[in-house]
Amino acid sequence: MPRHDVIVVGGGPGGSTAAWRLARAGLRPLLLDAAVFPRVKVCAGWVTPEAMADVEVDPDKYPLTIQAFSACRFEFEGARHETRWRTPASYGIVRREFDHYLLDRARAAGTDVREGARVTAVIRDADGIRVVSEHGAFEASVVIGAGGHRCPVAGAFGDVSEREEVVIAQESETRLPSDRVEALGELFEAPELYVEPDLTGYGWYFPKADVLNIGIGCVVGPGVDLPRRRDALVHALRASGRLPVDFPLEPFRGHAYVVRRRAPRRLAGDRFCLVGDAAGLARDLSGEGIGPAIRSGRLAAEAVEAHLRRGAALESYATAIVRRYGPGEAGWLGRQLARLPEACARLLVRAALGTGATRRHVVLGRIFGMREVAS
Ligand SMILES: Cc1cc2nc3c(=O)[nH]c(=O)nc-3n(C[C@H](O)[C@H](O)[C@H](O)COP(=O)(O)OP(=O)(O)OC[C@H]3O[C@@H](n4cnc5c(N)ncnc54)[C@H](O)[C@@H]3O)c2cc1C
Repeated sequence: MPRHDVIVVGGGPGGSTAAWRLARAGLRPLLLDAAVFPRVKVCAGWVTPEAMADVEVDPDKYPLTIQAFSACRFEFEGARHETRWRTPASYGIVRREFDHYLLDRARAAGTDVREGARVTAVIRDADGIRVVSEHGAFEASVVIGAGGHRCPVAGAFGDVSEREEVVIAQESETRLPSDRVEALGELFEAPELYVEPDLTGYGWYFPKADVLNIGIGCVVGPGVDLPRRRDALVHALRASGRLPVDFPLEPFRGHAYVVRRRAPRRLAGDRFCLVGDAAGLARDLSGEGIGPAIRSGRLAAEAVEAHLRRGAALESYATAIVRRYGPGEAGWLGRQLARLPEACARLLVRAALGTGATRRHVVLGRIFGMREVAS
């Protein structure tokens, strides 16, 4: 049976970053992904400057669809607020292109990439890890689970709990002809976020170059009817002229993922690490998951390299994640906020969005990770 130093399950931003860093460090990673790239990934494609720096992609040199944003608009309870920065504070990319680009880069660095290879079982024994896929079985000393929400490595070793907080989302991504983009004018210059009245999620209108991504996501809970919210969003966008009445959208696609607020998964242990959505690392309030996937991919690669070369324990990876993203349980403030009656919570959100400095530094800066790039 072929033996590699490390097997990475999943080739999204988390897995491809981990494999790229390991290959660059001179190790022999094997990456298995169920899909054949370029593959569709349900995601708005909003990326922070920090994530771009972490993944070492220079936005000015990135050769595929990208738009730099130096403004963002929020809408809540009929009030609209705009924040502007002097330089780009975030970027829009197309996941189908971005993920393929990162995977090709990992391959060029020396990763053995197998596409169309769904992993069906992950087994740990005294000698190492055995990963069974539709393309055969493989062995390695360590496995990195980067297979997203339903990652088989997380299923085998992550102590996945039923208490997890799951976000469900739907989006549609459509490329527009240039005359349509021109006609939309300044509406097409900045992302817009529409906070749901019950504060369980938000909708978005996200233009990026000639591509429009619209969608809606919310935390799973009693009475949450995502298709009804999606239809209301599309209706409002058409009524306001953001979506031409006669323009056909690509069909909506749905996806789910876990945010890091309740019942955190086991992040690392004997012969494994979990990264990105497999570890449940998306930010709880914004749902930003690309940046945490990339950062955790880097940290996992460092820990696995130290483990393979010097015998360091993989638990150092879990410690680094907790240091960066917290323990995953709500702290005192979070617990108090969760107890607030909905009307008080709405009042707080209205005040936070309506105050320029709070919106810029707390909501957009801390929750969404949008900050000016130092020039
Ligand atoms: C509608 C929506 C909008 C979003 N918008 C944003 C946004 O704008 N910005 C942002 O930062 N985050 C956003 N997110 C979250 C973001 O998409 C994820 O957090 C991010 O993709 C996580 O990356 P990852 O590498 O961990 O996993 P993924 O990108 O999910 O990659 C996992 C890979 O594993 C493969 N795989 C799965 N199962 C197996 C298996 N059994 N065997 C082999 N391979 C397997 C899959 O094919 C896939 O390629 C959004 C999510 C949704 C649902």
